[in-house]
Amino acid sequence: MILVLGIDAATWTVIKPNLGNLPSFKKLTQIGKSKTIVLQETPLSAPIWCGMFCGKMPSEHKHESYVVDGNIVKREDIKVDFIWDVLHREGKDVKVLNVPFVVPPYSFGVDFKPVGFGLPTNDKEWQEELERVTEKTKELLSQKPDVIISVYTLLDRIQHFHWGEDCVLEWYQKVDKKIGELLLDTGFLENKANRLIIISDHGFCSFGEAKVQTLPEQTKQGKLKGDHHENALLITVNVDYDINRPQDVFFAVKELAGS
Ligand SMILES: [Zn+2]
Repeated sequence: MILVLGIDAATWTVIKPNLGNLPSFKKLTQIGKSKTIVLQETPLSAPIWCGMFCGKMPSEHKHESYVVDGNIVKREDIKVDFIWDVLHREGKDVKVLNVPFVVPPYSFGVDFKPVGFGLPTNDKEWQEELERVTEKTKELLSQKPDVIISVYTLLDRIQHFHWGEDCVLEWYQKVDKKIGELLLDTGFLENKANRLIIISDHGFCSFGEAKVQTLPEQTKQGKLKGDHHENALLITVNVDYDINRPQDVFFAVKELAGS
């Protein structure tokens, strides 16, 4: 099995200095390869998740934003083949869960209703997303498809509202615990035929330090404290393909799946 676990906005800036409090991440960095992906494109979630799974740069896939001219962009509006389209056509079993290149996030071959229309905004919804994505991914792992792609979006939202506060690390610890349940407790990583890619679409930094402002500072939920940074995170286990850009995930999965 190939598992791509996306964690929107996960950053080494929080993880590296706190590995002592993040046992699953620590274990993953010990058994796998870790690196920073420095984005060449603007660190916006929609075009990056899109490029990661269609292999194209934003100038080629032309999907820049969730909303264009007041209309929500839908999957059909984006004229590309994603990795799941390619592999499915070849008869591979591909399951895709909660990928936030559109709102609500996209699923393929999986029945999943995103939490909060894919924009969870409070503790209750963040917790709910964490639990539901984990449970569904566990269920998919037990079905042993060829490829699973699964994404958590909560850290992006949490960091926009709470960057610099103690609760950010607390949420990373909750994510760490769920990742442990998924990858370590299920025995997924003990099977040497299994391959894992953990990736974020961008990092995070304080609102004023960000090179781009992705949201207005003042929102209905309060003033924003953080914004996207161009350094994204990557951890791979049992993957030889050299991933240096989000787009390389498409080619890596294609090669690993024997396509
Ligand atoms: Zn993002």
